Amino acid sequence: MKHLDTFQRFLFDNHQIRGEIVRLDKTYVDIKQRQDYPAPIEALLGEALAASVLMSGTLKFEGVLSIQARGDGPVNLLVAECTHDKKVRAIAQWEGDVPADNLTKQLGAAQLAITIDPKQGKRYQGIVPLEEEKLAVCLTHYFEQSEQLSTYILLFCDGSSASGIFLQQLPARDKELNDDDAWNRITQFASTLTQEEIYKLAGEEVLNRLFHEEDITLYPEEPVAFECNCSKERTGNALTSLGQDEIYEILAEENIIDINCQFCNEQYSYQKADIDALFGNKTLH
Ligand SMILES: [Zn+2]
Repeated sequence: MKHLDTFQRFLFDNHQIRGEIVRLDKTYVDIKQRQDYPAPIEALLGEALAASVLMSGTLKFEGVLSIQARGDGPVNLLVAECTHDKKVRAIAQWEGDVPADNLTKQLGAAQLAITIDPKQGKRYQGIVPLEEEKLAVCLTHYFEQSEQLSTYILLFCDGSSASGIFLQQLPARDKELNDDDAWNRITQFASTLTQEEIYKLAGEEVLNRLFHEEDITLYPEEPVAFECNCSKERTGNALTSLGQDEIYEILAEENIIDINCQFCNEQYSYQKADIDALFGNKTLH
């Protein structure tokens, strides 16, 4: 199906409401098959991934948006990232049995951090407590708190595909356009969307089915793909941030420092000469 692995924006012509839709198929499989995740984590990973793509629609510049949750439950880390040009990556770490369907049981006492890391300029991070059973609901709280914008998010993941729809009420330009009834009506219709519909139908058909009485402008589909932005340079930066003493101590014990990227399994190896170069030291012999 042509519309899979795409992101698509739309705009309600007569209301201050914008929307986005994401459908991930191969992209999701590419990411989840990198580790042997239990089924509940596969579902959680898919939802987080779809959410990161939807939230990247708010990026106004080149950069990365990441959703990160750390908790004291069986799932101790969940990360999903999406760049402005829709390159995604995600991982989860866990220990023991992971219960299905309930975020608070999966992550325990946890916080959800949304980080916007622009290529140029200042990093922004917003944090909300993770207190809801559904990731989508936690993320709507984030938008309410950080941007004071009413937001509606619906996420789906069945273990082989991940998808979602996003609606956001824009600040009204004038009183006439501030139509709360339209927001309630439109989110009510959106809540009837099923996983089968969002997966099988093209964007136009999804919107026709949900909002057939509304005039909508639908923008072209943008492709989404798995791509890890790790590099020897970035790994090197992470090493130098640990400090010279610690790194040379590890090197003395191991002779070589191997760093595996958790997102893509790429391995970066550092021998003494590499470490010397990182810290600007001379290698004499
Ligand atoms: Zn990588």
